Order: sequence, then structure tokens, then C-alpha cells
Amino acid sequence: MSLGNASSRSKLAIVLDTGALIAKYYRLLPKNNVLVYTAQSAVEEVVDRENREALLEAMQLGLINVVEPSREYLNKVREKAREIGGIHRLSMVDVDIASIALQLASMSYHVVVITDDYELQNLLLYMNISFKPLRTRGISEFRRYRAYCPVCGYIPGSPMEDECPLCGSRIKRKRV
Ligand SMILES: [Zn+2]
Repeated sequence: MSLGNASSRSKLAIVLDTGALIAKYYRLLPKNNVLVYTAQSAVEEVVDRENREALLEAMQLGLINVVEPSREYLNKVREKAREIGGIHRLSMVDVDIASIALQLASMSYHVVVITDDYELQNLLLYMNISFKPLRTRGISEFRRYRAYCPVCGYIPGSPMEDECPLCGSRIKRKRV
């Protein structure tokens, strides 16, 4: 499946990495007004039986769209990763996830990537794409970001955001 060209202004698109698939994060999301994506390569990393069966069921129910990133966006993401010097620390799945996120963002979706991968988070911020870690270890962890949601840990990719798109809380900002 490819992403196509349909544009949907400010609709929320959530992109799940392998860790988010294993955490079954797709079960925690509202079914309306949220599109959920992941990469084929991330699905292939979910190998243990229980998680794989749950994932295949969610795919059959249409809760998750499994896509392949386009070559154009893969190249764009590799270029961006080279710019920040992190290309060798990113896995193939990280690059796929970032490429799908960048392509969705180019289609005017409000994209949020769910990932605990620090290198991927860095790259996403560099590309102005929002993300949310699965596990948060308290507010102190977010002090390195200029803005964050104090309730769910969402990190906005754009400095203009006031409200968390995931939980509706007010975005907290660091004074600079
Ligand atoms: Zn939030």
C-alpha cells in the first residue's frame, strides 16, 4: 500500500515504531479522526507470537495502515539525517518511520510519531515533526525540550502549538 496523494488538512496521523507496536499503542487511540500508520519493516520486527497475533488482528480490523515509504521521502530523510550527522545511528526501520512521517506531514496531516528511540526523536525534531515517547520518566526528562505536554509527554514539532493534540492539555513552554 502506498500513501497516495489525498490531502487532509490538520487531520491527526499517528505513526507507530516497533516499540509502539509491541506496546499495542494502537489500542489506546480513539478510532475516529485519527489515522494510524506504521512501516512494513516495523511489522516484520514484531516476531513474538502474542504481539504478532494482536498486531495482525488490528491490521485486519483496519486500525493500522501498513505502508512502504516512497523512495523520494527515503532520500529526503537520509539527507536530513546526514545533515545532523546521525545517519549511521539510525536503523532501517527508523528511516522508514521518519520517511512515512515526513510524507504524511507534506500532505498536511498533523503527524505524531510514537517512539522511544532517541536518535529517531532527534531527527524528527530537526524535521519539525512532533513525537511522543511511550515511556516517560517524569517531567525532568522534558526539560531538554523547548516545549512539551506535561500530562502525556508529547513534544511538538512546531513552536506554534498551544494544545496537545493527543490529550488536549496545554503545552508547557520553556522561557528563553
Ligand atoms: Zn498531551
